[in-house]
Amino acid sequence: MDALNLKIENDIAILEFDTPDSRVNVLNRQTMQELDSIVDQLAARAGSEIKGLIVSSKKEGIFIAGADIKEIEKISSAKEAVEKAQIGKYILNKLGRLNLITVAAINGACLGGGLELALHCKYRTASFSEAVRIGLPEVKLGLIPGFGGTQKLPKIVGLLRATNMILSGEMVSGPDALRYGLVDRLFPPMRLVEDSRDFIRELLNGRVAVKRRKKQGLRNSFLENTPLGRAVFFDQAGKNVIKKTKGFYPAPLKAIEVIKRTYGQSAERGSLLESEAFSKLAVTEISKNLIKVFYLNEEFKNFPWVDAAIKPARVDKCGIVGAGVMGGGIAQLLGFYDIPSRLKDINYEALKTALKTAKGLFDYAAKKRILRRHQVDYKLGLISPTVTYKGFENTDLVIEAVVEDLNIKQKVFKELGEITTCAAVLASNTSSLPITKIAEAANSPDRVVGLHFFNPVHRMPLVEVIRSSRTSDQALATTIRFARRIGKVVIVVKDVPGFLINRILLSYLNEAGFLFEEGMKMDDIDRIARDFGMPMGPIELIDEIGVDVGYKVAKILEGAYGERMRAAPILEKVRDKMFPGKKTKSCFYIRAKNKKMPNPDIYKIAGISRADSAISDEVALKRMLYVMINEAARCLEEGVADRPQTVDIGMIMGTGFPPFRAGLLRYADSLGTDNIVRTLYDFEKAKKAERFRPCNYLISMAQTKRGFYGTI
Ligand code: NAD
Repeated sequence: MDALNLKIENDIAILEFDTPDSRVNVLNRQTMQELDSIVDQLAARAGSEIKGLIVSSKKEGIFIAGADIKEIEKISSAKEAVEKAQIGKYILNKLGRLNLITVAAINGACLGGGLELALHCKYRTASFSEAVRIGLPEVKLGLIPGFGGTQKLPKIVGLLRATNMILSGEMVSGPDALRYGLVDRLFPPMRLVEDSRDFIRELLNGRVAVKRRKKQGLRNSFLENTPLGRAVFFDQAGKNVIKKTKGFYPAPLKAIEVIKRTYGQSAERGSLLESEAFSKLAVTEISKNLIKVFYLNEEFKNFPWVDAAIKPARVDKCGIVGAGVMGGGIAQLLGFYDIPSRLKDINYEALKTALKTAKGLFDYAAKKRILRRHQVDYKLGLISPTVTYKGFENTDLVIEAVVEDLNIKQKVFKELGEITTCAAVLASNTSSLPITKIAEAANSPDRVVGLHFFNPVHRMPLVEVIRSSRTSDQALATTIRFARRIGKVVIVVKDVPGFLINRILLSYLNEAGFLFEEGMKMDDIDRIARDFGMPMGPIELIDEIGVDVGYKVAKILEGAYGERMRAAPILEKVRDKMFPGKKTKSCFYIRAKNKKMPNPDIYKIAGISRADSAISDEVALKRMLYVMINEAARCLEEGVADRPQTVDIGMIMGTGFPPFRAGLLRYADSLGTDNIVRTLYDFEKAKKAERFRPCNYLISMAQTKRGFYGTI
C-alpha cells in the first residue's frame, strides 16, 4: 500500500500523506522513496501544467509525526547515519527547488522530520485546531534535526527563536506559529486544503502579500544581527543548557555548535555539518536509551489496559479531603483540566494557602502563554473550598489527602462512605498505609482504591494506582481513566507498604543515611547521586520531603519489612534533636540569602565527631543504587509490579531517575545481574548487613545469565 497519494486538480497538485497501518504519518524509507519519485514527476510537469502543490495529511490531527524512530534506533554506525540524513535532505531539497508554489497544509502534529519537510515548502498554512503542534523535538531523543532543520528554521523564524525551539524541543501552537512567521495563514480545520488552494491562487495572481516575522526589538536585533551579539547569544545558550542538563545530554550542545558554525554559511556546508553532528549523536548510548524511554512513554499512554468489557464511570465532579501540600496541588491540577472540585479541610488557613498556591500556578501558566487570562479565572473558580462535606453527595470521585495517620484516614473514609453515593469512587493519596486497611472503614470497600500522586503534583507525571484485595474492576477502571484524563502516566501496583516507588526509593534514602552515619560527608553523598544524574541528592530529597515525614514512612516500612528496611538511625536523631514534631524543609541543609548550604551543626546533632570516611565515591554510589535494584527485584518477585517496564517508567516519572540511563532496571541490565549479585554479597559480608543480601529473583537471574529484560 502506498504511503503517499497524489491528486491533480486543474493546475494544483495535492500530495496526501497516509502511512499504512499506522496511527501517525512517519517519514520512513518507503515514504521517502515514494516522495522522491513523486517530486521527480512533479518537477517534469511543473510550471506549464502544474502551478502549485499542497502537501497534506489524511490522518486526523496528525500532519507528519517525524522520521521513523524505529529506523533511527537501528542505525549502527555514524556512516550509515550520515548517509540517511544526506539522502533525506537530497529528496527534501528537490521538493524545495520545485518550480511551483508549494504549501504544507498542517492539520495537526507537525514534528521533527515532518516540520523539516514543511520547512522545505515555500509556504505553510495550518488549521485553527488545537491539535496543531509544531516543533523539532529531536533533542528529547538525544539527537538534533537531521533533515535540514538547523539550517532552515533560523531563516524562517530567526536565529534566536529557532535556536530556542531546537534546544527546548518544545512545540508551538498554530496561533504562535503564525506570530513567529512559521506559518503564513491559519484556516478552519474543515477548509484547510480548500483555503490553502485559494491561497495559492492568490499568490499566483500576485494578489497577496505575505508578511513574515514581526520587526525585532533592539536587543534581539543586536543578538541576532551582529557577530558580537551572536557570540554573546551562543555563549549564554550554552551556559543555560549546561545549567539545565548538567552536561548529561550532549545533543543540545551539538545543536548550538552546528547552528553557530553554519549560520550564514553556504547551504552545502551547513547541510554536511548538520548530518555529521546528527550521525555522531545517533549512535550514542544516550540516544538509544532516550529512544527506549520514548517507547516506554508511548506504551504507558494506554497501558495498563482497561478491560474493554468494563465501562469506566464518568467523572464530572470531584471531592478532595485535606487541603495541604498534596490536596491543594490535586485541586489545582483538576482545575487545570477543567474538573470542578469541592476541597475540604478542617483548617481555614490550609484552604487559603491552597487557593493562593493554585492561583500562583495558574498565573505562571498564563505568563508562559499556556493559559489565557480568562482561563485562569475560570479554572481557579472550579476549586470550591469548604470545611464541611456539603457538595460531596454528588461527587463522582473523592481523593483523600489528609495527614498520614491510619486512624484519621479511617475516620474520613467512614464519613465519605456515608455521605457519597454508592457509585462514587473513594481514592486515598496515602504514601505508605495499606489501602485494604483504610478501606475497612468505608461502608463499601470495593469502591476504595489508592491514587498516589507525587510531589509537586503539577510537575511529577506519575500516579500509582493501588488495587486492594477488595477494589472492584469498575472502581479501578474509573480511576485509571480519570488519572489519564488529568495528564498522568499510570502504573497499577499491589497494595503493600510503600507500594512500588516509595518502597524502592526508601531503600536508597536509607542507604544515604547509613553512609552519613559511617562518616561520609553529606554533600559528597548528594554530589555522587547528582553526578549519576539524579535530579537531587538523597539527603537533599529527605529535606524536601521533610525529615519528619521521611522518618514516619521509614518506620512504617521497617515495621512491614523488618531488618532489611531498618530505618537509618540518623533520621530519628535528626528529627528528634532538630525540629521535634515540626514540618520543616531546612534540616540537613539551611538556606540563607537564597543559597543552600550544609547545616554546620548537623554532624554534632547526628553525633558524628569527624565527617570523613574511607568510602570511595564508587562504593557509595553502588551501595545506594544496588539496594534499589535489589528491592525492585523483590517487588517483581512478589508481583507488586507486573514487569520491569512498570518499575522503569515509575522511577523515571515518579522520582526523576535519569532518563538517559533508560530506567533503573535497564541500567541494572547494562551492568549485568551477576555483577550486581556479587557486589551485593561483598557488601553484605563487609558491613554484616542483611539489607544487602540479594533476593532470590536477582540470584536466579544472575545464575541463568539473564537480565530483567531477558538474556544479556
Ligand atoms: P499536609 O500536612 O500538608 O496536609 C494535610 C491536610 O489535611 C492539612 O491541611 C490538615 O488540616 C488536613 N486534615 C487533617 N485532618 C483532616 C480531616 N479530618 N478533614 C479534612 N482535612 C483534614 O500533608 P500532605 O503532605 O499534603 O500529605 C497528605 C497525604 O498525602 C498524606 O497521606 C501523605 O502521606 C500523602 N503524600 C504526601 C506527599 C508529600 O510529598 N507531601 C507525597 C505523596 C503522598
